[in-house]
Amino acid sequence: MKRILIVGTSHSEATCQRTENGPIDRMNSGRWYDYFKDLGHSVTCLARAGCTVEQQFMAVHSYFQENPNAKFDLAIIEGRSLETNVSIPGTPGPSKITYADFWRRYDTSLGKDENYRWEIDNVDSQKIEQYPEYKPYYVDYVFSLLHSVQHWSTNYAMCKLIEEHADVVKWFAFSTATIFNKNPELKELAIGYDMMKSYFISEDCWPYPRLRFDNDMICACHHMNENGHSHFWNEFIYPRVKQYL
Ligand SMILES: [Zn+2]
Repeated sequence: MKRILIVGTSHSEATCQRTENGPIDRMNSGRWYDYFKDLGHSVTCLARAGCTVEQQFMAVHSYFQENPNAKFDLAIIEGRSLETNVSIPGTPGPSKITYADFWRRYDTSLGKDENYRWEIDNVDSQKIEQYPEYKPYYVDYVFSLLHSVQHWSTNYAMCKLIEEHADVVKWFAFSTATIFNKNPELKELAIGYDMMKSYFISEDCWPYPRLRFDNDMICACHHMNENGHSHFWNEFIYPRVKQYL
């Protein structure tokens, strides 16, 4: 049995069953890393929809503060790519953030007011018009070198931190990457390539996993449904990590 750590975003948190105009139905089964469990391995997962890389880092840091002796054979990080990660000031919270806080948002037994609020929040660079209050900040910051250095450094630091507790650390990110697809030579992306390549799960994971998904594998909000997660496991994840199992 291998001990496996997963860090992720909405693409890892759940399988999605959303239909057009339907409610988001997130299923906590059939996710790409649940197949490790079928093979007899143990999985610890830190994944949350909408999180920034900074939030991932805080969750990972908190986890190892509370579990300083935790050891993993393999860690797979479904990280954030630059264009979906713009951190903004959030709601001031308690000074100490615990591992459990990371999950509190989904504890429906807690009232809304008790849901944990991050001091660092996230807005999507492609939805700038939805956040007029941040517009001056956006114009100068989004896709600037400062944004790029901060973003990729945090991804890199998170891998370095996890490396102290895991024999093998592998990283990839799903990405919308529209501006970068138009101009893959942009230095903001090149920084990320140079910084993260030693952790790539494979060369073809950059800037996003090169895998074709059929329509019946993707939900209406463009997340993988159960079919998609199975496809992603079989065709992308498993062939790239089976050597570590
Ligand atoms: Zn969905």
